[in-house]
Amino acid sequence: TEANTGAPTIFDKIISKEIPSDIIYEDERVLAFRDINPQAPVHVLLIPKLRDGLTELGKAEARHEDILVAEKEGIVDGFRVVINSGPTACQSVYHLHLHVLGGRQLKWPPG
Ligand code: 5GP
Repeated sequence: TEANTGAPTIFDKIISKEIPSDIIYEDERVLAFRDINPQAPVHVLLIPKLRDGLTELGKAEARHEDILVAEKEGIVDGFRVVINSGPTACQSVYHLHLHVLGGRQLKWPPG
């Protein structure tokens, strides 16, 4: 697990297309792409393109798009939106991202 240094992360390279990803939605503010290590049949990461110092704004912006991702993926009847925040919650990439999970029966609590 990395520390939150404020440095650029791998997600910046995904935004710039330096690193390829399976993009399902993109606009000027947000990017949605499939997680490389999916924890459910649908596991999409939804990120604001601006991360630095704007995480609260970014969260508000990205929150508008999670339903859109769920609609695109056909999981509106049941999906989960998760933000892992900090090492104790297993955050591994320090660029704000919403996990959008679905396509199977999800357990609660997630553990
Ligand atoms: P976190 O643990 O920080 O909440 O979630 C980070 C997520 O990013 C993990 O689920 C991990 O699988 C995903 N991830 C890390 N590196 C890459 C990558 O290079 N490409 C994609 N598509 N997902 C990644």
